[in-house]
Amino acid sequence: MKLLVATHNQGKVTEFAEMLADLAIEWLSLDEVGVTANVAETGTTFRENAIIKATAYAEATGLLTLADDSGLEVDALHGQPGLYTARYGGAGLTHVARYQLLLQNLRDVSWEKRTARFRAVIALVAPDGTLLGTADGVCEGTIATEPAGEGGFGYDPVFFLPGRGMTMAEVGTAVKHQISHRGQAMQAIEPLLRRTLREQ
Ligand code: IMP
Repeated sequence: MKLLVATHNQGKVTEFAEMLADLAIEWLSLDEVGVTANVAETGTTFRENAIIKATAYAEATGLLTLADDSGLEVDALHGQPGLYTARYGGAGLTHVARYQLLLQNLRDVSWEKRTARFRAVIALVAPDGTLLGTADGVCEGTIATEPAGEGGFGYDPVFFLPGRGMTMAEVGTAVKHQISHRGQAMQAIEPLLRRTLREQ
């Protein structure tokens, strides 16, 4: 059974496929099905944006479609960058420049006040555009004072996990899949995905 993951990021598709490796699914990215357009993320929540993306791409392709939307909420910044995490600091910045800006903006914030969380919402939409369900995932942490680790992507090198004593870029792929916001959301949507596959 084909499942479209509504992203142009092949890394994300691989991540999802690894998380649910035992499912008999052909995981496809937008590029693999020939969709080049981007859907405007006009929602005001991660959930709305995940639903907007999954619905638009399911309708465009006629495929069962899964979309996720995610971001980083920093308490000392009143929940920012939140929905704007991917664009923090403006267009065209590298991931490194974005997390360096975050470190700069938190330079006077004490360790206790550097709490933050990654959030992810996954939406699953049927080939006819019907919303089948959504699932949330949260991963709590602290913004480190300097980057550490080579793994993961985005803000992982500055996302310190107090329970592990290291950053998300240091824990390794298997642990990240288990504990991350996307991993949590994926585990939560798995029963619905299995049910949907049985019924297709
Ligand atoms: P989107 O869900 O693809 O819109 O991603 C939102 C942004 O949040 C990404 O561009 C990353 O900067 C950040 N982000 C989301 N998930 C992660 C993660 O697992 N590690 C590090 N950064 C992440």
